[in-house]
Amino acid sequence: MKLIKEYLYKFKQQFYSKILGRKYFRKGHCSCCGRCCTKIYVRHSKDVIKTEKEFENLKKGHFFYSYLKVIGKDDMGLIFECSKLDKDTGMCTVHSTRPAICRKYPQEEIFSMGASLAENCGYSFEPIFSFEEVLKKVCHK
Ligand code: SF4
Ligand code: SF4
Repeated sequence: MKLIKEYLYKFKQQFYSKILGRKYFRKGHCSCCGRCCTKIYVRHSKDVIKTEKEFENLKKGHFFYSYLKVIGKDDMGLIFECSKLDKDTGMCTVHSTRPAICRKYPQEEIFSMGASLAENCGYSFEPIFSFEEVLKKVCHK
């Protein structure tokens, strides 16, 4: 049984890293805190949206952006909140029809974009290969 489990885990590691091109396993689940739907920055083509004009142009590209409203600004850029968030419950009011970007959230790409998980998010990311496994691979090359 232990051998089968080890084999399946190794298969999973290879599938996620080689086929899906992932570096992390996503763990956990959404606890519906709503934090990722408020106080957010919007990135487009690697740049954070900094002005209302940039945002107006972006809105033409995808209906999701029309959900967002500007609630502030800091050195990084405009800060947004989604108008579909019920702030009392932390729930999405369009849950069944929410955009793909929300369905897939969080994905590990957020790290390469300089973002991080919201505080106390129910998800976490675990490296697919441990440091020891990476070291072993490098030493056996
Ligand atoms: S921050 Fe995490 S736990 Fe909270 S709503 Fe977003 S995905 Fe769910
Ligand atoms: S559509 Fe729903 S899940 Fe997506 S950002 Fe807005 S409130 Fe959050």
